[in-house]
Amino acid sequence: MTPAAYAVLDLNALQHNLQKVRECAPDANIMAVIKANGYGHGLLRVAETLSHVDAFAVARVQEGIRLRKAGLQNRVAVLEGFTCIEELDDLLHYQLDAVVHTASQLDLLEQHTGRTQIAVWLKLDTGMNRLGFHANEFPGIYQRLSRCVLVKQPVNLMTHLANADDMQDDMTIKQINLFNQTLGMSQGERSIANSAGILGWQAALADWVRPGVMLYGISPFPGSTGAELGLKHVMGLHSRLIAVKPLAKGGTVGYGCSWVCPQDTTLGVVAIGYGDGYPRYAKPGTPVLVNGQRVPLIGRVSMDMITVDLASQPDAKPGDAVTLWGDGLAVEEIALCADTIPYTLVCGVTQRVRLVEAEERNSPL
Ligand SMILES: *Cc1c(COP(=O)(O)O)cnc(C)c1O
Repeated sequence: MTPAAYAVLDLNALQHNLQKVRECAPDANIMAVIKANGYGHGLLRVAETLSHVDAFAVARVQEGIRLRKAGLQNRVAVLEGFTCIEELDDLLHYQLDAVVHTASQLDLLEQHTGRTQIAVWLKLDTGMNRLGFHANEFPGIYQRLSRCVLVKQPVNLMTHLANADDMQDDMTIKQINLFNQTLGMSQGERSIANSAGILGWQAALADWVRPGVMLYGISPFPGSTGAELGLKHVMGLHSRLIAVKPLAKGGTVGYGCSWVCPQDTTLGVVAIGYGDGYPRYAKPGTPVLVNGQRVPLIGRVSMDMITVDLASQPDAKPGDAVTLWGDGLAVEEIALCADTIPYTLVCGVTQRVRLVEAEERNSPL
């Protein structure tokens, strides 16, 4: 029997979604964003599946080192760069590209006495107000990096969009214009677009695109699904019923006794909870598939279990298949029901959940 809670990963879908990126940005190089354990899908699994991309992006130095130790030789950009000499040494040793976004990093680069060189991405803050230099700092910083012996020339240039998933907000165009105006004729390859930029903003494509969530088949736009954009979901989260029993009108379900049964029904208990990464704040009514049919979540999500109303499926029995998201149930829909974004759901699947690649689904686990 399969483990109680498991996630099925469709690596062909990952390839399909990469192809979709290529169609949207045929002239751009692709930096596949695989931070946070490949958005919960497994860092090395995703990297190996996409091993023909032009580069990877991770958030932290340790993630880059893991890729190198696994033998991956692609270019890898570390989006948070480095904060100390030890991390800079690691970037040099493992030949990882550093994002340079704050002045203390320049001091470390200039003081370093090593002979190997490092590729850098100078990051401009065009309105996100997270990482990056402001436009007025750009000329001085660019000049310092251009003279730094440790830095491969020319310096690469990037910024990050703050609200590209809102097609009505002209913030994105303002950011793109500020980026281009600030850089002027400066040499170096340029990168602006995340998934929403790639799918929604032609002017953001530039030399390199940085797709994240769309690679996993998820829409970056609230209110739409990846499927509607021609993407295929990579992750399905599954479990099974472990108990089925009658529930009388007036009975309350779960912690806090917050859900009161309006009429006699059949209750199902599913082996999945926030301890697996199912969202604690999923509201009653959140759809769950039991034997492929939608039934509503009732009561609060607990650590190891959820409860569902099986009124429409009185013949369901322990052991029956349950899907929390994936085939037939978009993770985007579950995110809406839990007042979150699908990113947090796929990133939040915990260690306890067995990750299974689609082809091995029928082999012994
Ligand atoms: C996470 C991230 C991305 C990818 O964003 P998606 O919305 O997942 O496509 C791109 N660029 C930077 C700097 C990021 O931090």
